[in-house]
Amino acid sequence: MNKKYLAKIKRFLIEKKDELLNKANAAQRNINSEDITVGDEIDTARQNSDKEMFFELAAADKITLNAVNDALVKIEKNIYCTCECCGEKIPVKRLKAIPWARYCIKCQGEAEKS
Ligand SMILES: [Zn+2]
Repeated sequence: MNKKYLAKIKRFLIEKKDELLNKANAAQRNINSEDITVGDEIDTARQNSDKEMFFELAAADKITLNAVNDALVKIEKNIYCTCECCGEKIPVKRLKAIPWARYCIKCQGEAEKS
């Protein structure tokens, strides 16, 4: 992987990090400013399912944010594109699809199985 491409990925990761942090901040503001009102039952049920969706999304975002942070550390340490499990090179094609991928396809497959 050449330096120019690595710089491009780094920029992309930083942007992604900012995007996720902004999203987290906006969500935080939403929670703080949320008015607790007593609606009818249907309304309350709908609000609850919206909230569950939000928390699921937030959890997925958190995982991505961690992976993005780790990818940035790996760039600094010059070990970006190395699988965290077997130490093999992660194919560039895979990193183009998921720049914050931690594992090669083989190890990812193993992790998902267990
Ligand atoms: Zn691997």
